[in-house]
Amino acid sequence: MPLERTLILLKPDCLERGHAGQVLARFESAGLAVRGTKMLRLTDALLAEHYAHLTSRPFYPEIVQFMKSRPVVALVLEGENAVARVRDLLGPTDSKKAAKGTIRGDFGQESMRNVCHASDSTDNAALEVQRFFSASEVF
Ligand code: ADP
Repeated sequence: MPLERTLILLKPDCLERGHAGQVLARFESAGLAVRGTKMLRLTDALLAEHYAHLTSRPFYPEIVQFMKSRPVVALVLEGENAVARVRDLLGPTDSKKAAKGTIRGDFGQESMRNVCHASDSTDNAALEVQRFFSASEVF
């Protein structure tokens, strides 16, 4: 299996509800290694780039408000088949439809407050890692 990197954001609901440690433990227990981490406050410009596929959707302004409501934690995780494996660990977008045992199933609330962002393809992972981290910040 290919060694991959993927970009994670621990969303405002994850930090507000005190789940960051448990979520990170799930990733580490799955054998994924932390290669980069930082806390940052998202801006309108960064969100418009990151969620470009959603800007025309009616709920986009609500997403922006939510994602800016408090700082997020960004992570670069590395491991074999990391992109697909992290998406499996998260479960589907709507936390209410996510199985127990998945991160969203255990810690999420609904479609928007769903604990984590994770890259959905290796191409997007490469773009997203560069969006949030400079080369010297990934180890
Ligand atoms: P994912 O994060 O699972 O890759 P998307 O890229 O489709 O999902 O959506 C990005 C984020 O936008 C979701 O994680 C969620 O926070 C929010 N979102 C998506 N769909 C909805 C929706 N129907 N209602 C409210 N928020 C949504």
